Amino acid sequence: MKHFPIFVALEGRRVVLSGGGDAAVAKLRLLLKTQARLTVFAPQACAEIMAWANEGRLTLVQRKMAPGDTTCATLFYAADEDEAEDARTASIARADGALVNIVDNLADSQFITPAIVDRDPVVVAIGTEGAAPVLARAIKADLETQLPATLGTLARIGKTFRKAVDVLPMGRRRRDFWRSFYFGAGPRTLEQGGEAAVQDGLDTLLETFKTQADRAGHVAFVGAGPGDPELLTLKARKALDEADVVIHDRLVTPEILELARREAIVINVGKRGFGTSTAQEEINRLIVEHALRGAQIVRLKGGDPSVFGRLDEETEACDAARIGWHVVPGITAASASAAALGQSLTRRGRNSSIRMLTGHDMQGFADHDWRTLAQPGEVAAIYMAKASARYIQGRLIMHGADRATPVTLVENASRPDQRILATTLDRLPDDLSKAGLNGPALTFYGLAPHAAEAALDVTKAQELA
Ligand code: SAH
Repeated sequence: MKHFPIFVALEGRRVVLSGGGDAAVAKLRLLLKTQARLTVFAPQACAEIMAWANEGRLTLVQRKMAPGDTTCATLFYAADEDEAEDARTASIARADGALVNIVDNLADSQFITPAIVDRDPVVVAIGTEGAAPVLARAIKADLETQLPATLGTLARIGKTFRKAVDVLPMGRRRRDFWRSFYFGAGPRTLEQGGEAAVQDGLDTLLETFKTQADRAGHVAFVGAGPGDPELLTLKARKALDEADVVIHDRLVTPEILELARREAIVINVGKRGFGTSTAQEEINRLIVEHALRGAQIVRLKGGDPSVFGRLDEETEACDAARIGWHVVPGITAASASAAALGQSLTRRGRNSSIRMLTGHDMQGFADHDWRTLAQPGEVAAIYMAKASARYIQGRLIMHGADRATPVTLVENASRPDQRILATTLDRLPDDLSKAGLNGPALTFYGLAPHAAEAALDVTKAQELA
């Protein structure tokens, strides 16, 4: 991040701009939304600026800027659209200690003005560090349609009520009050009875919250999906948005954790490979401890919580402590990996069932019904199989599996660094060690990438011809 976003207090402060043309007008339109004292230097100002000056909304000085003109200015805009003149005025402002912006000159500017979505006092600033103004405008347009026009009004009324709400205990209860105001009672009352009704509504709502008992602690076991934040469910996003405590695995990506409520306590309980049961007991203890304190907990697990996620050990711990819980499913690695291959997990006439296996369990390499798996046409999604690849290969071949059976590994499915390794049962251990996969990888036994399969069909067809 080369530019750090902040909101500058401009009420009663001096802001100076040099220029009288289109660029000046564009900046002034934004600045006129503030309570800054605006001074414009322009030997020739356009009609719009003249009009603003006549209305007393800014001070217009109809000459070129000179040393001393930016004394005590907080911000300065060089908007003459003339390289030499902008450099001259900017150096005057810099000498006077103002922060300088030169219109359309990112390199020499000390600050830049973002695209703004204005629901005063709610203001969204969008910046791309000059890289993609088109993108900034698109995001702005998107937000403009998403944020109701009444948002500003509600926030303004809410602000006057903040002191009164201090009677509610800090934390969850107070947050719930505001959530209910901004997303429930507030918009509803505003629509039905206008601003006056909102004030009365706030009093009633506060009375309800004063007498209401605290919410009990609760645990949501949430599937975080394979890594791409866009593959989170809406329910997962909502849970993250409301969480007091987020307890997550190693597989959960930083991009997803970014979506947790800013004040949430985020605890990483990530285990690598063969995790020990002590660690699991510690996780159970953490969950129970926070929930008994009344926290709304999100237990965030990679993929789907019910697939090799030790979900039931944690729900049992909740039951034992009489803590309420629910499960929010997620996209499991097998689904994301099949999508990466462009393959269907099941297919009429090929495999009418699919097995989900783990490469290792608490005892070490996991044992399975190898005899059935070795039959032609079987498909399995093998989790945590990298370390046990040679073992799995040995078992399957021993039980008569065809050495040419396709085996495909998908590493980091759905993430930007996703990689696909297509091999065969015969070559699996060698190809795997050559590829050096470091991320989580799912192994498909009996499934090739769509394109490879198609290519194979072509070769077969050619051979037959
Ligand atoms: N609950 C998870 C699985 C946890 S076990 C789920 O439903 O996906 C951990 C294993 O999942 C890893 O060893 C790997 O085999 C697989 N896995 C998880 N995320 C993955 C990803 N993004 N790409 C490939 N495999 C992944």
